[in-house]
Amino acid sequence: MLATTNNSPLTQQLLDREDLYSAHNYKPLPVMLTRGEGVYVWDVDGKRYYDFLSGYSAVNQGHCHPRIINALIEQAQKLTLTSRAFHSDLLGEYSELITRYFGYDKVLPMNTGVEAVETALKLARKWAYQVKGVEENKAKILVCENNFHGRTLNVISFSTDPSARKDFGPFMPGYEIILYNDIPALERALNDKNVAGFLVEPIQGEAGVMVPDDGYLSKAYELCKQANALFIADEIQTGLARTGKMLACDHENVRPDILILGKALSGGTLPVSAVLADDEIMLTIKPGEHGSTYGGNPLACKVAITALEVLTDEHMAQNAAEQGEYLRQQLRALNSPHIQLVRGKGLLNAIVIKHADKNAAWDLCVEMMKLGLLAKPTHGDKIRFAPPLLITRAQLDDCINIIGNSLRILD
Ligand code: PLP
Repeated sequence: MLATTNNSPLTQQLLDREDLYSAHNYKPLPVMLTRGEGVYVWDVDGKRYYDFLSGYSAVNQGHCHPRIINALIEQAQKLTLTSRAFHSDLLGEYSELITRYFGYDKVLPMNTGVEAVETALKLARKWAYQVKGVEENKAKILVCENNFHGRTLNVISFSTDPSARKDFGPFMPGYEIILYNDIPALERALNDKNVAGFLVEPIQGEAGVMVPDDGYLSKAYELCKQANALFIADEIQTGLARTGKMLACDHENVRPDILILGKALSGGTLPVSAVLADDEIMLTIKPGEHGSTYGGNPLACKVAITALEVLTDEHMAQNAAEQGEYLRQQLRALNSPHIQLVRGKGLLNAIVIKHADKNAAWDLCVEMMKLGLLAKPTHGDKIRFAPPLLITRAQLDDCINIIGNSLRILD
């Protein structure tokens, strides 16, 4: 079956309007939200839900975090955008804070996640030509099967998801796709002296929270060093305390050569992304060679400073580690015949649904929605469970009850 919902007249009217005027490039659950606070969101009829997606991990700090919203409002009343044609006093302050926070020489600020990925790829190519000495136009970047790094034409050029690519060609050359979590495959691919770098998600989020084997990241980093290639970590979804450490790479004490951040860098308030690297890499890009009108704007700088402070001050990585462990334990203890497996790290988790009906994961999400918890299937049979990082044990117990009760519709 494909579960249906009895929407209120107000919700239905708003759904119809959106459907008529807004492009159909997403297929959302039929819930119409209007307010958020902490782990909760409310729909237009006043019903409250737990948010178990957190804006694909953009809302790690919780919805409308008061400190972040206050910083946003105060800065919005003072100065929002200068463009990089002029200096604003906040760029230096933010740059100092974020580079010290993560231990890099420099930051290059952008807006959306995919722009930061593009920036990292451009940096890797520049470095390959100017520092490594790769022959002009020969630089190659290794990427993984089932990757997700965003939606620009360049980035989908190395996607392996047919729905992301169909009828969007021709594509950009210069990429080689290897298996994820496969060290021998990486070792072979690194034999090519034209490899500039290896772009990897420390956990593949969109693919359904694919956690690689312990030791994969550290071994991959070591191989990149041996081959004089850059280890480029896309921590847009895994970073900023989501997996129980500030970065998912921290679990293996790996310091990427290029670190890509986005999403929760603004606590879900506006698009703020960043690329961090040392001078040898970052200074290969000279004035006029790359940029963005909004990148590094004072509003974004102020918000990002506060978003980072909130993560530390409220010990969100530690809470993600503790509650995540508990969540996985409790999900397994449900012993549901419909859950094939539970996997994840910190509060980035997924269940894989086992059912004869291919719509089972969607139907389960609709049922959870009815009972007050929002989650969304990915790739048909997987459901991500990634609540804001301030969730408490009592709230999680409530959520486990909702999930357990919802699973009964699959009996
Ligand atoms: N990289 C990863 C790992 C992501 O999960 C995402 C978004 O889901 C992106 C890049 C793209 O970010 P954005 O949608 O902000 O462009």
